[in-house]
Amino acid sequence: ADAIDVERIRADFPILGLQVNGHPLVYLDNAASSQMPQPVIDRLVRYQTTQHANINRAVHTLSEIATNEYEAARRTLQHFIRARSEREVIFTSGTTDAINLVMHGYGRKFIGPGDEIILTTLEHHANIVPWQMLAEEKGAIVRVAPINDAGEVLLDAYRDLFNERTKFVGLTHVSNALGTINPVRQMVAIAHESGVPVLVDGAQAVPHMAVDVQDLDCDFYVFSGHKLCGPTGIGILYGKAALLERMQPFKGGGDMILSVTFEKTVYNAIPHKFEAGTPPIAAAIGMAAAVDYLSAIGMQVISRQEQILLEYATDQLQQLPGVRIIGTAANKAAVLSFVIDGVHPHDIGTLLNEDGIAVRTGHHCAQPVMQRLGLPATSRASFAFYNTLAEVDALTAGIRAVQKVFL
Ligand code: PMP
Repeated sequence: ADAIDVERIRADFPILGLQVNGHPLVYLDNAASSQMPQPVIDRLVRYQTTQHANINRAVHTLSEIATNEYEAARRTLQHFIRARSEREVIFTSGTTDAINLVMHGYGRKFIGPGDEIILTTLEHHANIVPWQMLAEEKGAIVRVAPINDAGEVLLDAYRDLFNERTKFVGLTHVSNALGTINPVRQMVAIAHESGVPVLVDGAQAVPHMAVDVQDLDCDFYVFSGHKLCGPTGIGILYGKAALLERMQPFKGGGDMILSVTFEKTVYNAIPHKFEAGTPPIAAAIGMAAAVDYLSAIGMQVISRQEQILLEYATDQLQQLPGVRIIGTAANKAAVLSFVIDGVHPHDIGTLLNEDGIAVRTGHHCAQPVMQRLGLPATSRASFAFYNTLAEVDALTAGIRAVQKVFL
């Protein structure tokens, strides 16, 4: 039985009513980007039609309204992830931008030659490449926590990586390629035993479960609006205030300063120190509307519904001869990677699309995890709370049809 009234929910999402290639759209690429419900679209229209102006710059009415709405959006995000203070919530253009901000603002200041940065095999390229760039610039070293064949980080091996040169940890909350949910609270505690700060990539976690950054005790937490039923071009960097205050700004410009002369610039207080220039005001307000929408359903309820979909889909795919599920962690989010014997993932994606079924194929911007599992690529169905058991059946039927073509 469903945990929510899926048909009522689906009615909120105009795009889910589309036909693709003559079939009803079956949208199973939610890990890449999820869809936007009408209340969020309406909020964006209301902002653009009645509230838009630049923020923080003028005394006129619209500017004051836009500023208030933007700051209210920040508080909505603060409460959503249970941050202690709105000063700890910085609007970025997305997860990638937020990680780069931490690399430049924290990494370049506090990580030096011979220092070590620990990542996990499960990381998305967004949480690998910035640290490699830093390592190259500073002569620092990236070390990698290994995983088992199920796609779970080996905690003892992770613990063994720490030494007196360890300066930073970056780890994903949920793997976008396999769905593995890392035991983040425990991994943060291990890092803190050595006094090492931790950045958690929450891009695939925040849309699917209740996240409490104070409970996790992570030092940084990052995620994107577009995976959360919100707009593209917006994301969040959460950071503990004490760390943010010690960091260098990443970008210089207007709004991030208190005063500027050609002799000296005094930076603004957090969070504004990290928000140079005109921010994506509409996108921030849209992201907050998306959070309100998800919160009204309830993150626990969303989690439960997606687990129902994952269990059913796992069960269905396991029964198909020649289909292998990649990523069998005990604790998984609703991401189902799979391969079909004798069929290239690209062909699977193309053929499923002919039936209106949207899945992702490829390396999922996580080449190291694919290498570790000895695969060039997988197909990936990733679910959201608005997906249905009937859509899982459509996927199963689609896979059978693909297998027939390649018999
Ligand atoms: N980390 C993870 C785990 C992701 O899944 C993604 C998006 N695929 C990113 C980071 C990057 O997010 P964005 O493209 O929104 O910056």
